[in-house]
Amino acid sequence: MKTILVALLLLDPLLAIAAAGHPGSKDIEKQVNDLLKKMTLEEKVGQMTQVALDVVSKGDSGKAEPHAIDPVKLETAIFKYHVGSILNVATSAHSIDHWHEIITQIQDAARKTRLGIPVIYGIDAIHGASYTRGATLFPQGIAVAATWSPDIAKRIGEVTAREVRASGIPWNFHPVLDLGRQPLWPRFWETYGEDVVLATRIGTSYISGLQGDDIGASDKVAACLKHYAGYSFTITGKDRTSAWIDERMMRQYFLPTFEAGVRAGAMTVMVNAGETNGIPCHADYHLLTEVLKGEWKFRGFVVSDWEGIKHLYTRDRVADSPKEAVRIGVMAGIDMSMVPLDFSFYDLLLALVREKNVPLSRIDDAVRRILRVKFAAGLFEHPYPEPAAAEVGSKQDAVLNLEAASEAITLLKNSINVLPLRKGTRVLVTGPTANLLSALNGGWTITWQGDSEELYPHEKKTILDAIREENGKENVVYVPGTSFDKPLNIAAAVGAADTCDVVIACLGEKAYCEFVGNIDDFNLEDAQLRLVEELSRRGKPVVLILAEGRPRTIHRIVDKCSAVLMAYLPGMEGGTAVGKVLFGDVNPSGKLPFSYPKYPNAHVPYDGKGADVSDVNRYDPEFAFGSGLSYTTFEYSDLRLSKSTYSMKDTIEVSVTIKNKGTVTGKEVAQLFVTDLYRSVTPPFRELKGFSKLELRAAERRTVTFRLTAPDLSFIGKNYKRIVEPGGFRVAIDTLSTDFELKAPQLK
Ligand code: BGC
Repeated sequence: MKTILVALLLLDPLLAIAAAGHPGSKDIEKQVNDLLKKMTLEEKVGQMTQVALDVVSKGDSGKAEPHAIDPVKLETAIFKYHVGSILNVATSAHSIDHWHEIITQIQDAARKTRLGIPVIYGIDAIHGASYTRGATLFPQGIAVAATWSPDIAKRIGEVTAREVRASGIPWNFHPVLDLGRQPLWPRFWETYGEDVVLATRIGTSYISGLQGDDIGASDKVAACLKHYAGYSFTITGKDRTSAWIDERMMRQYFLPTFEAGVRAGAMTVMVNAGETNGIPCHADYHLLTEVLKGEWKFRGFVVSDWEGIKHLYTRDRVADSPKEAVRIGVMAGIDMSMVPLDFSFYDLLLALVREKNVPLSRIDDAVRRILRVKFAAGLFEHPYPEPAAAEVGSKQDAVLNLEAASEAITLLKNSINVLPLRKGTRVLVTGPTANLLSALNGGWTITWQGDSEELYPHEKKTILDAIREENGKENVVYVPGTSFDKPLNIAAAVGAADTCDVVIACLGEKAYCEFVGNIDDFNLEDAQLRLVEELSRRGKPVVLILAEGRPRTIHRIVDKCSAVLMAYLPGMEGGTAVGKVLFGDVNPSGKLPFSYPKYPNAHVPYDGKGADVSDVNRYDPEFAFGSGLSYTTFEYSDLRLSKSTYSMKDTIEVSVTIKNKGTVTGKEVAQLFVTDLYRSVTPPFRELKGFSKLELRAAERRTVTFRLTAPDLSFIGKNYKRIVEPGGFRVAIDTLSTDFELKAPQLK
């Protein structure tokens, strides 16, 4: 078979935003080089050192409440160790005013140093400014992907940047560009789902909103792509465990989102805290230096994950001492170490350079990269928080938040058209996620785990609050029935069901973050499944609402429910959005960004290979990737190709007509799938190559056109290079499909 080498162009016009203010501009390069020349070795190594806020805060382990900076500890960090970066909160979200005090104290100290190099503060603002009190907290990543709306992702990026900057912070450890292809993984909900094209478009749009074309602007911040690479695909499904991802799989699935993020102008990258193929990512020269900095020409800096370098010795045992761990990490390509609870990295790296075990050229390269980002972020000109900072948590941003949650919520089943409910229907609301804001937000919300319900803004609505408001309090009976894992009063819930017309069972997961969310059993807890089983025996329609970060298996109860509504982790307006969908104020338009398995051992991605989905094996999930119902129906017709045979240089135009056949306005996501019929590396069953969300009024009809070029048909060949092979392809949208031929170039 003939193969053609191609460069990857992932379908997104936003990739072109690399702009003048970004690292690499001549002006910045000169400033960086001038400054670098003046720096001592100690100052350089300090720039590469990042510590947690705890290290410079009052109290044991820096966790005194109320939080305050300890001036003596701060002085040690800034003057003795010359630290270049600080991160995180010590315990929980701070007010804007307190953030301003913190950042001002830190930058005051930095200003007084010999060269006055500002500190770059970093934070996990992964669904809005999650560590700033009162901030707009959006749906988590997986729910943003479920909107299938790059535009919403971009606007979320804009608001997040504005609120993070308003807090005086210029650097956000987001977006998570790991693919969600291992649903057991407790960080699944931080991802944009299982598909490369969907995650790329949502991720790059978010970056463009977050960074704009000048991260030095007073309402923009630097993005951090994480966790590079392969973090999400661990064998055990547990956090920070090992993965085996060969070069082809890595380049086919786990690298393209990062490459696109770099091309979209992201300035920092955080390393995967696990390992792939026996190499801890913090020691992976190939990924960090050869691929990221070499092939992709990334000019920003690489930051380790939390204690990532230490783990090379303490956990991974590829280094036989803490010092060797530092040498390996820095030589692999890490530019900044999130140490972050002491200064050991500084001491060890300094010694390594003095002993000539780490060349000065590597240090200069790392520091040059860090300074580039500091200049680009405008920190030298305005290191301090803006005095008149933008409003945080505005009403207007809550409207966007509600729009995002409303577009994410995905109707997976509506068998007797039980939804939307008529207002005034007598309903029983039950289940552990019915009355908790934490279950709608998940981790990285106010605290790391996001589970301190008492710290949530209680003017925001839980699902129960929203149902009461939509339906009238007098028509709502609430009996919790069960906690997440232990029955409370299932009999009372069953009794209450007899007095109601419809049961709304709110199940799912409590808030968790990172390894705390590890599970041994993928099934949703028995107590929750039993609640629905027992309720369903009363003959009342059961509407199941799932507020969960990953698709816990629920096969035991699916046919006992008349409707299933997936809410994911929809954020602070998520309760309101669920209420509006239930009672028909919002017509659901979310689509699953992953395959929802039927059984714990039956996870097959939608783009499985022939061996995975044919003969004895099938793609037979509970709910398929891309699925999601509406209160109206859409009809697809006239799938057309502009030609039946294309050359490698042609643009392939695929069009389809969509009609809203119902009586209400609705939004539909047209999804274009392509199958490469025969090729030298087994082709996936089908692959998403484009999508477009559009709103159609009742009876309205519209034609959507997708444009593909040869790189869209590429894959990672036997030689681990991206190639295209001529031959037959099938395009499919909804249930329609048609074939075309891609011709080999003429040989001269
Ligand atoms: C997480 C990162 C996070 C970092 C800083 C780590 O434990 O893996 O995602 O950005 O902590 O909080």
